[in-house]
Amino acid sequence: MDTERAFYIGRFQPYHMGHHTVIGALSSEVDELIIGVGSAQRSHTVDDPFTAGERVMMISKALSEFSIPFYVIPIEDVEYNSLWTAHVRARVPTFSVVYSNNPLVGRLFEEAGIEVRALPMFRRDVYSGTEIRKRMLEGDSWEELVPACVAKLIHEIDGVGRIRRLAQTDTSMP
Ligand code: ATP
Ligand code: MG
Repeated sequence: MDTERAFYIGRFQPYHMGHHTVIGALSSEVDELIIGVGSAQRSHTVDDPFTAGERVMMISKALSEFSIPFYVIPIEDVEYNSLWTAHVRARVPTFSVVYSNNPLVGRLFEEAGIEVRALPMFRRDVYSGTEIRKRMLEGDSWEELVPACVAKLIHEIDGVGRIRRLAQTDTSMP
């Protein structure tokens, strides 16, 4: 039988336990995974603090927990939705199925003739990039919402210091 290779995309700002739970379930359903790191060009803002390279590291470390072959590939935005699936397919290995709950992602791949499967959401109130970044800014605990190896990496790169600095304005400087 052919290898079933699946595509999953997110911004992963940061990679959290919601992503990790979904990917853990996927790894027993398909043979290989391709993780697209979306908005790859963005970093160093409050909403997109981490670079594509940092996000590749988070995902690669976390996925080594699962015994599934995977590729982690940064994908820059193209402000041209009708061309986006071609842009993705030019950058990643071939795949036969897309897992996504994002309506735009689902619709674009369906129109391109690719099977799209939906996924369950896990504790979306707290397993959420927006919630984690808010906690980092406000000094609340966030570590339990990401895999331990991701928390370690964010500490190593002083991710919390970065996000707090980025939230300042020049008028808050002495
Ligand atoms: P942000 O709040 O910054 O948008 P996010 O938590 O939505 O972050 P993304 O990187 O935008 O994370 O999401 C990538 C994919 O993961 C999306 O399709 C999203 O629906 C899915 N996802 C996000 N949180 C969860 C969760 N708790 N359980 C399952 N899937 C999730
Ligand atoms: Mg999101």
